[in-house]
Amino acid sequence: MRAAVLEAPNRPLQIEDLAEPSPGPGEVLVATTACGVCHTDLHVMKGEVIFPTPAVLGHEVSGVVAAVGNGVETVRVGDRVVASFIMPCGWCRHCVRGAEDLCETFFSFNRLRGTLYDGQTRLRRADGSTVAMYSMGGLAERCVVPATDVFRVPDALTLRDVTTLGCSMLTAYGAVHNVAALRPGDDVAVVAVGGVGSALVQMAVAYGAARVIAVDVSREKLKAAEALGATHTVDASAVDPVDAVRAATEGRGVAVAFEALGSAATFAAACGMADDGGAVVVIGIAPAGVTGAVDLSRLPRRKLRILGSYGGRPRADMPALLRLVERGVLRPQALVTRHFDLADADAAYQALARGEIVGRALVDVGPG
Ligand SMILES: [Zn+2]
Ligand SMILES: [Zn+2]
Repeated sequence: MRAAVLEAPNRPLQIEDLAEPSPGPGEVLVATTACGVCHTDLHVMKGEVIFPTPAVLGHEVSGVVAAVGNGVETVRVGDRVVASFIMPCGWCRHCVRGAEDLCETFFSFNRLRGTLYDGQTRLRRADGSTVAMYSMGGLAERCVVPATDVFRVPDALTLRDVTTLGCSMLTAYGAVHNVAALRPGDDVAVVAVGGVGSALVQMAVAYGAARVIAVDVSREKLKAAEALGATHTVDASAVDPVDAVRAATEGRGVAVAFEALGSAATFAAACGMADDGGAVVVIGIAPAGVTGAVDLSRLPRRKLRILGSYGGRPRADMPALLRLVERGVLRPQALVTRHFDLADADAAYQALARGEIVGRALVDVGPG
């Protein structure tokens, strides 16, 4: 099967023929329809996140079930499915209490070693040498996913339209629903409206936020955020974003400031935007070792809450997301602005690195 392989950091993705993968017990082989182009892959490609290579990246996929391993009862061959980047093991101490966003099996086997949960990757070159999997390795014609992370897509929805549920929309849902517990009428700010930030704007609107203030340095991204329902936009390259958010909220600040970039400057700005008793929800992943400053007196005296949010809890959240899309409450397809062929996967990530992707780009891998 064809796959986009990262040989080593700072090398272009190259299309290679890998051996046909097969699912182990409790796993599902998915013929990939589409895979989202996400900054997290880019961190690995640039060597900012340490990950074994050679590797197949891509962690936001839709596709059709091509085979199932022993014991899989939840899906059948031919089912149209979507999968999320967190592939919950289902049995670690966090998964058993529903906190799949902390699944330690996922972190220790997949994120550190590039394998599934028997310690083996399902990807091999023709010479038998192994190729690591970043999540399921979605930038390939076929991928193997634990059945705990494979969700049937309702007939009324097209696979390409729901592909972004697997990372950007799951992350937005986790931040808005699980962590911020956003209430109707709350004001929110979204600092950085790239792929996840755009999804956050749409999610906050769906949850009944009163003001949704998009903050970015790109006029094009702010315009796109407006189309997704942002009530206010702040060009942080032209004005002080904290002053602008306070001015838009009668000086109060917002109930929730989402930080979706991962830098000291955007973290500080988000902290400055939060109202008394408000929350800063940090979603952006900064390079390891980067620290952020916060006025400590505001934590107790203004009851400022600083909360981290990582993805979501796939087995509870993906079915909920699919229902919200089916009802038309969420429109994940509105995030997608560009499509690339698998052969052009490297060009897609180069465009992302140059800041040219508004919302989300998809790599179209196969039919469906
Ligand atoms: Zn992602
Ligand atoms: Zn787990």
